[in-house]
Amino acid sequence: MRQIDVVTIFPEMFEPYLGSSIIGKARERGLVAVNVHNLRDHTEDKHRTTDDTPYGGGPGMVMKIEPIARAFESIKNDGLPTRSILVTPQGRRFDQGMAEEFSKDERRLLILCGRYEGVDERVVEQYIDDEVSVGDYVLTGGELPALVIIDASVRLLPGVLGDEGSLEDESFSWGILDYPQYTRPPQWGGKGVPEVLTSGNHAGIDRYRRKEALRRTMARRPDLLDKARLDSNDMRLIEEIKEEE
Ligand code: SAM
Repeated sequence: MRQIDVVTIFPEMFEPYLGSSIIGKARERGLVAVNVHNLRDHTEDKHRTTDDTPYGGGPGMVMKIEPIARAFESIKNDGLPTRSILVTPQGRRFDQGMAEEFSKDERRLLILCGRYEGVDERVVEQYIDDEVSVGDYVLTGGELPALVIIDASVRLLPGVLGDEGSLEDESFSWGILDYPQYTRPPQWGGKGVPEVLTSGNHAGIDRYRRKEALRRTMARRPDLLDKARLDSNDMRLIEEIKEEE
């Protein structure tokens, strides 16, 4: 994934986020290109209409086929292999595994942001490879989900993060949550930091961190443990944690 195209009726929502910080730098350095397209530029009527009433009645409006079809055809006109996704609460739930999958996919990622009650189903049949949800809640539009997917996927591209090691350690990279972090000062409001972290004993620090990561995962997200990549040391640490309870 070296190029991302987004189709939205709110293009102005993207640049403040995608022009800042790590993603902004990645774009400046040419590690990824992001093009945001205004769906209204692909309408043909005076009012630049992108929605219409639903067949069968009911509340709300539905995004019309024709502007989306024209936007997709014009973007795909460059011949680049493309993976098209629609963000929708009805899609496969986005997670770290999917972010990795997108970051490794050689194809351009084309993201369609829904609004109103969603898009005409024929758009999905004709143009969409994957429907992706960012969680079991309903947002007003697909722009935040698109930003979530772009952020989580772009940061995994080689060279985007300064310290590649940080990818190894963080939440979900081993299928479990991350360990707790501390920085200076060593004492604050009567609270110190775990002694082992200032001991200089690297094996002890690794063991402490792994154990605390497991402890957190057991307490907060036990569902993750079934699928996590655990070895015999982890199993021993899990036994220790259970005995401590
Ligand atoms: N009626 C739709 C439903 O129940 O599935 C919800 C439409 S929602 C108000 C408008 C748009 O926001 C959706 O078409 C989708 O693009 C986006 N959206 C809202 N929640 C989302 C989520 N959890 N994940 C991905 N996209 C979402």
